[in-house]
Amino acid sequence: MSERAIQFGPAGRPLAILSALVDEQRGLIDRLDGARCIDHAGRHFWLGHLHGVPVVLTVSRIGKVSAALTAATLIERFGVGAVVFTGVAGAIDPMLQRGDVVVAHDFLQHDLDVSPLFPRYELPSYGRSRLDCDVQLSALLARAAEQALARDFASARVHRGLVVSGDRFVSGAQEVRELRERLQQAGHRALAVEMEGAAVAQVCADHGLPYAAMRSISDRADDAAAQDFASFVSQVASRYAQAVMAHLLPSVAGRPS
Ligand code: SAH
Repeated sequence: MSERAIQFGPAGRPLAILSALVDEQRGLIDRLDGARCIDHAGRHFWLGHLHGVPVVLTVSRIGKVSAALTAATLIERFGVGAVVFTGVAGAIDPMLQRGDVVVAHDFLQHDLDVSPLFPRYELPSYGRSRLDCDVQLSALLARAAEQALARDFASARVHRGLVVSGDRFVSGAQEVRELRERLQQAGHRALAVEMEGAAVAQVCADHGLPYAAMRSISDRADDAAAQDFASFVSQVASRYAQAVMAHLLPSVAGRPS
């Protein structure tokens, strides 16, 4: 890459690459230079260098609690300076196709409801419903996704926007329509739904660390979601992760420059 690499987070700290499922990250560990595995809190944390950048790779498991615990561990025990999530999601916006990539602009918990004490979706004590991703890291991730897709998956597109998270696999045409409409009524136009991203966003916001997330669309959150999800995750998700990281990491310096 011709331009200078960009430093994220405190100098010298590794970049966390986080997924919910082993299949979303398969192949990345094999490419780690100087790989070392530390088991902690029932998870494997892989330390090493990927494309020259110090990284910690790990799989959170499914859901917001698992994701929050893993993100907090990455920060407090492994001292990461920024977090990038790579995984899959169901489409909420009908314009999205399976295989497209969404780079999150921000996140909201669609199953958070403390009404009537607070407006639906609002995070009590944060005074807002949506948590932003890091602008610069997200821009690099979107560019890396565009470059990776243009090369290897030409029919797929990269979208930027709101991603929503909740502890539920959304898998019904009526359910996803109702979710889309409920969010729209509250002023939120969501592109995709998954089960971890908003939790990681909250942990990173609390610690003041940059966070960016890409989700490839595995399904339409409809009646065919379970089948579509399973085939996409086993066949495509890790290839996306490898291709995008190969473009992203050379533009991200994990060491002081
Ligand atoms: N069959 C899996 C469970 C998958 S849960 C197993 O047994 O391990 C779905 C995972 O993919 C979650 O991590 C979530 O973030 C994402 N996801 C993909 N499509 C989704 C959808 N339609 N609704 C919610 N999450 C979805």
